[in-house]
Amino acid sequence: MLSVSEAEATIFNLVSPLDNQQDTEIVDLLAADSRILASAVTSQMHFPYWDNSAMDGYAVRYADVQQATQQQPAILEIVEEIPAGYQPQSTIEPGQAARIFTGAVLPAGADTVVMQENTQRQENRVLILTAPQKPQEFVRQRAAYYQAGTQLLPPGIMLNGAEIAVLATAQCTQVSVYRRPRVAIFSTGNELVPPKKPLQPGQIVDSNQYALAALVRQSGAEPLMLGIVPDEPPALEKAIAYAVSNADIVISSGGVSVGDYDYVQQIIESLKGKIHIQAVAMKPGKPLTVATFRNQVIYFGLPGNPASALVTFWRFVQPTIKKVSGLVDGWQPKFIKAFTRQELRSDGKRETYFWGKLHLQNGIYEFQLAGGSQSSGNLINLAQTNALAVMSVGQTLISSGEEVQVLLN
Ligand code: AMP
Ligand code: MG
Repeated sequence: MLSVSEAEATIFNLVSPLDNQQDTEIVDLLAADSRILASAVTSQMHFPYWDNSAMDGYAVRYADVQQATQQQPAILEIVEEIPAGYQPQSTIEPGQAARIFTGAVLPAGADTVVMQENTQRQENRVLILTAPQKPQEFVRQRAAYYQAGTQLLPPGIMLNGAEIAVLATAQCTQVSVYRRPRVAIFSTGNELVPPKKPLQPGQIVDSNQYALAALVRQSGAEPLMLGIVPDEPPALEKAIAYAVSNADIVISSGGVSVGDYDYVQQIIESLKGKIHIQAVAMKPGKPLTVATFRNQVIYFGLPGNPASALVTFWRFVQPTIKKVSGLVDGWQPKFIKAFTRQELRSDGKRETYFWGKLHLQNGIYEFQLAGGSQSSGNLINLAQTNALAVMSVGQTLISSGEEVQVLLN
């Protein structure tokens, strides 16, 4: 049985990002948020586009004002008023200034802006009462923040508000992003029924498929819902074959334990899939099965118990989807250290995951264990959790107030 870190390394090595040429699509900037940029963006426009003022004040020649003081102000003739969005008409000559406002274009001849708080207006003249600290003060120089022709944004980053602002500024109204990975999802089990159907004795509702579809979407991928498949080899074979040929990633739940009706591994092998993982030393989640098929599709056979399915999804599948989606950085699982509010106990035999809520309390992270049973069959108390506390193999107790590693979901 593999350890969790061995399983993680195995899985992350099995997958690579989608193709940055073929697996892309062009989207409008307004629809680009949370998408992953497929190729580097370069602009032919500098930023700022032109020298402009960082203050409301007066555009001046530094040489004219460098000696100015309250007692001996520099007195300049105002030759123009330059609001934002206006193209200056005059050149500032020695002894002259222009009234200027934040963001407005610096006129020719001027090299410095004096903020209006350091001036006094007298009709068409301005008194500069304080010398600027240095030439260029309060001038945002053309190309100071970005030079045309250099890389503006690298490939493999997620486009959020700031990146979208950058693209808008560069007038890139359409961008090439990776297509969303397609993730086929199905549930296995003769006992399962969809949520709309009344339950017969012994039946249970297939909650995993709904949970997994939501989590797949949240991870940036597109779910392909294949329904409930009975524990019958021909039906399973058909479902797995279809899923593998129509998706980048396949997730099934159930049918991977050692029970008489657990056929998933056997069918994977009959379809020439290569099984890399058959069990992982973790709790919950031990029966996790991972395979690949010749077309590079990765198959996750998650255990059927709802908590096991979600914990193994968060631990392994979520980062896999993010890596496949083209994200260069930040696809890896995120662990932080927190102080546990409750004591955590395990038999120490497998790496144990406890679900709960991470709180930021006076600048310190605290882990609040979900109340009620931490059984793999319970799913009710998974609601409103956002983190998993992790206890290593060999560890049996983490007392309340002690530090614990926490995985952010
Ligand atoms: P299995 O891994 O197939 O042995 O399933 C273990 C248990 O998990 C089953 O007995 C069900 O109680 C539960 N289970 C399996 N599949 C699902 C599902 N899709 N949704 C909710 N619970 C499930
Ligand atoms: Mg089953």
